[in-house]
Amino acid sequence: MKKKSVLTVIFTVIAAVLFSAALIMSLSEKEKNPFGGEPFTEEVTVSETEAEARTEQQVTEAKKINKETGRIIVNPEQDLWNLVVVNMGREMPSGYKPVLKEILSTGYYMDERVVPFYEKMYKAAKEEGIILTPYSGYRSYERQERNYKNLTETYMSDYGLSRKEAEKKAATVILPPGTSEHNLGLAMDICNTKDSFAFTEEYKWLTENAHKYGFILRYTEDKMDITGIVDEPWHWRFVGTEYAEDIKNSGLCLEEYLELKGIDF
Ligand SMILES: [Zn+2]
Repeated sequence: MKKKSVLTVIFTVIAAVLFSAALIMSLSEKEKNPFGGEPFTEEVTVSETEAEARTEQQVTEAKKINKETGRIIVNPEQDLWNLVVVNMGREMPSGYKPVLKEILSTGYYMDERVVPFYEKMYKAAKEEGIILTPYSGYRSYERQERNYKNLTETYMSDYGLSRKEAEKKAATVILPPGTSEHNLGLAMDICNTKDSFAFTEEYKWLTENAHKYGFILRYTEDKMDITGIVDEPWHWRFVGTEYAEDIKNSGLCLEEYLELKGIDF
């Protein structure tokens, strides 16, 4: 009888301990997740990953990709046409041609929406004795394609490179068709394309005033890893007067700025 009561006590204690442990575990589980079920953090992680995957899928679906080049095809006709970015990962649709207008009877053309801004800038500079001579404005897709193909073929025959290797080498000298801002008609090379342009009065004037007319210096040495293009003091890109000053003051390149602002370019 005595043995039996001792056993009863032991069993009761074990049962109580097990029950308490189960209770504590279920409480701490509830603390982790007030809605019950799996621990809270884990549930959030899973749903976030799913959301990200969904967003990525939607972005991929929304953005057309050129299967041949692997580049995103941008839409130069969108509302924020002035912020469209082309680079080694983004190209305009093949054969896209902006509506062009000649700049002050110079024989150089840009997108007609940009021309009034360039002309205004040109006149303002001229009043201060600075001549912002257009050197290279709009270049057609076909011309870019021809130049790029010719150079690629030269590299193939002269260096015995494969087409892919030759194209890569050519891209360091001439941008592939549709990836140049000149093809969009939104950029102007001013005066010349020499590195020494960075030491001229014209360049100084542009760095101080171009933003007032909606233009930014697009390619600088410190952003080369993002833009893929070396220092080009002569290359000025139109982004619009509502953005140029802010971009200039941000110290960011166009790609970084648009990403920071959450603007889908
Ligand atoms: Zn240029």
